[in-house]
Amino acid sequence: MVSRRIVMKFPHRLLDQPIISNLVKDYNLEFNILKASVMPNEEGLLVLELTGTEKDYEKALEYLKKTGVNLQPLSQDIKRNDKRCTHCGACVTICPAGALALDQKTRKVDFHDDKCIVCGLCINACPVRAMEIHF
Ligand code: SF4
Ligand code: SF4
Repeated sequence: MVSRRIVMKFPHRLLDQPIISNLVKDYNLEFNILKASVMPNEEGLLVLELTGTEKDYEKALEYLKKTGVNLQPLSQDIKRNDKRCTHCGACVTICPAGALALDQKTRKVDFHDDKCIVCGLCINACPVRAMEIHF
């Protein structure tokens, strides 16, 4: 058995398709939804942990690719180096998941790592390199 985390991006036309239930029905996979969101461009985004046999997992990936789902393995994690962050706010508008948000009271930028979808966009956007990717 293997257990792997992947990021799946769904074009708008696939949002109402029973893709996840097909993974269970046709490929005998178990899934655990780690994150789910609809991006501003109406692209759906799911971070899943999939568990099953290696063979079924590979076949399921083929099915997803054929269907038009964009796949990205999730073998990394995003962390913020709080000692470096100057709360400049440059990352707030770039983050598609709302994981970096300005606290109106403190005027500081909070990092909600439970919302982070590991897209990596904040890495280059941060002028002081406070956002770090860990493998
Ligand atoms: S861009 Fe970098 S320094 Fe600015 S608020 Fe975001 S993490 Fe902090
Ligand atoms: S990687 Fe950065 S920009 Fe992407 S969701 Fe996480 S915090 Fe937001």
